Amino acid sequence: MEFTTTVPATIDLAIIGAGPHALTLTTHLLQKRQRIRGKFLVFDPSGRWMSQWEHQFRALEIPNLRSPAVHHPDPNPFALRKFAQSRPNELFPPYDLPGTQLFEDFCQDVIRVRQLQEQVIPLAVKSIEPLRDHLRFRFCLCLQDGQEVIARRVVLTMSSAQIQIPDWVNQIQTA
Ligand SMILES: Cc1cc2nc3c(=O)[nH]c(=O)nc-3n(C[C@H](O)[C@H](O)[C@H](O)COP(=O)(O)OP(=O)(O)OC[C@H]3O[C@@H](n4cnc5c(N)ncnc54)[C@H](O)[C@@H]3O)c2cc1C
Repeated sequence: MEFTTTVPATIDLAIIGAGPHALTLTTHLLQKRQRIRGKFLVFDPSGRWMSQWEHQFRALEIPNLRSPAVHHPDPNPFALRKFAQSRPNELFPPYDLPGTQLFEDFCQDVIRVRQLQEQVIPLAVKSIEPLRDHLRFRFCLCLQDGQEVIARRVVLTMSSAQIQIPDWVNQIQTA
């Protein structure tokens, strides 16, 4: 079978979903350890960062965020204020709430500066199976096109309102 996007067979960290939580996690990890670049992949069927966020804000015609300007995916809390220096009219009272377009442009700048676009694999993750290989724990991710990836760590950032507790959690023996 030929795949449109070929993914590596193994990866250190798999992040599922490419919304603001995934972007925030990624920028913080890279700030802490540049070496993690190339060791993680982000899976999202849209193939883009922030697609669901942008879609939802557009659909509801939300003009500005409800969270103040320090809440954003860059590790530096003042980065959005700095970005907005030439666009002061897009920070709204009472707490400098960022305009929707300003916030989206800022996030795209974060993605561009950190060269993160290439990290998003345009595939959904259909299932996650825990693997035990000797003393090593791994996860096998089955992707929507049938490919499989073995990941050492997995982070779910899919914004699901449902708590996701895998069946195997109940089998963990506690002392
Ligand atoms: C009206 C409204 C106003 C809001 N205002 C604010 C605000 O001002 N400030 C604020 O911080 N928050 C605000 N929020 C909340 C914000 O929208 C969410 O908290 C945020 O989008 C969640 O981010 P996320 O990264 O968890 O998920 P999302 O942005 O929802 O992204 C999840 C991604 O996961 C992907 N995905 C799902 N399933 C899979 C799968 N199986 N495999 C691969 N990918 C998958 C989806 O395609 C999606 O792109 C608001 C929400 C609403 C409804």
